[in-house]
Amino acid sequence: MVTESLIPATERRQPSAQAADTEAMSFEQETNPWLAQEARFDFAAKKLNLDEGIWKILRQPARELIVHIPVGMDDGRIEVFTGYRVQHSTARGPSKGGVRYSPDVSLDEVRALASWMTWKCAVVNIPFGGAKGGIICDPHTMSQGELERMTRRYTAEMMEFLGPEKDVPAPDMGTNEQTMAWMMDTYSMHMRQTVTSVVTGKPVNIGGSSGRREATGRGISVVCDQAIQQLGIAVKDCRVILQGFGNVGSNAAKLLYEKGYRILGIADLDGGLYNANGIDIHALLAHRAQAGTIVGFSGAEAANPAELITRVCEILIPAATENVITSRNAAALHCRILCEGANGPTTIVADEILAANGVFVLPDILANAGGVTASYFEWVQDRMGYFWTEAEVNQRLDRIMTDSFRDVIAYAQSHSVNNRIAAYMLAVDRVAYTAKQRGMYA
Ligand code: NAD
Repeated sequence: MVTESLIPATERRQPSAQAADTEAMSFEQETNPWLAQEARFDFAAKKLNLDEGIWKILRQPARELIVHIPVGMDDGRIEVFTGYRVQHSTARGPSKGGVRYSPDVSLDEVRALASWMTWKCAVVNIPFGGAKGGIICDPHTMSQGELERMTRRYTAEMMEFLGPEKDVPAPDMGTNEQTMAWMMDTYSMHMRQTVTSVVTGKPVNIGGSSGRREATGRGISVVCDQAIQQLGIAVKDCRVILQGFGNVGSNAAKLLYEKGYRILGIADLDGGLYNANGIDIHALLAHRAQAGTIVGFSGAEAANPAELITRVCEILIPAATENVITSRNAAALHCRILCEGANGPTTIVADEILAANGVFVLPDILANAGGVTASYFEWVQDRMGYFWTEAEVNQRLDRIMTDSFRDVIAYAQSHSVNNRIAAYMLAVDRVAYTAKQRGMYA
């Protein structure tokens, strides 16, 4: 079952040319990712003096799909899951963005994540628009069979809206290479031919790209290198604390560790670790591979995850989920650099506190763009049918991340705005330019 958004245009808020009134916000409003996205977009649009018509177009997602997915569970019951796919913009190319499986998925969250994908692809200047998908479910309590049936039915419901030239999903929280293999296979069965480029983040043997799995973490390590160089901090003096030890967090930790950064702390859902002399990340990865958790690792002391992120460090990397740095804890942070591995980890109220405290922010739409950049490489390689070595992928990724960091910093300096607003302005400007050139079909 597929329904396009029925929200009448009159009920959608019009551009107000105002940034959000952060003082009057309730905590619920503060932590609504769509309102945060909107406020930052409006602020950037106002600064850019954006044409009012383009402003209205880019403020809303182009398409919102809701599907209700019946799945036969292992115990014989039928369960119905709700899934979303929001395509925010296709102005610069096919829409691109991950699919998230989590009990917390909501339409507002998917909307925000879709818009962030539009801005992220524009920041790194790759020819994609933005989209995101999600299913409300708890993947950790589902069997592989249940996950496969749910993924295949979700993909089948989206058939008309997906495609290498339309909308290209990828993994996100709760999904992985296997999920992408099922999506690719389902789409291919319907098309009666193998279409590898319909999703990215696939296993390497079925059209995945070398280096994709590590790419978001790798991109984070590149922008951290650039940031500490800019702030005059030596790698050996750089203490790092991470939140989240999943795909993004563990790869960022590994690559930074291998470059000589000292990883003092890791906060994950089931516990935290701290070692003032630095954690041996290779040993921790080996422990986690065996134990299935970071908890119980003998090379660090146990620590409270919520308190851990407030400890002194040069770089704090939230790499878990949204809204972890808010009005309630932003003033307690003791980092010089906040590098956003997760999407939307910082609220707009927290932004102001961090700015007042002189924290150098590497915003999500720059810092975690390594993943979508490698996804772009995967899509290109699939369409060529010719695959690059991991060294070639990494070299191209490093160059794009370095150039994008420099573009954002130069923009921030020339427009006297902070890094986040600079990244939004750069992105909105690029998307608006293309949208205007293409004109409006009516
Ligand atoms: P993942 O599911 O692999 O890992 C998430 C990790 O965060 C898990 O270890 C989980 O236990 C932990 N976690 C969740 N909530 C937490 C909390 N409140 N406190 C501490 N730890 C918590 O997901 P991922 O792919 O690593 O994605 C993490 C974030 O990065 C998400 O915001 C995602 O949208 C973003 N992101 C991912 C990619 C990618 O390539 N995977 C790319 C760009 C952005």
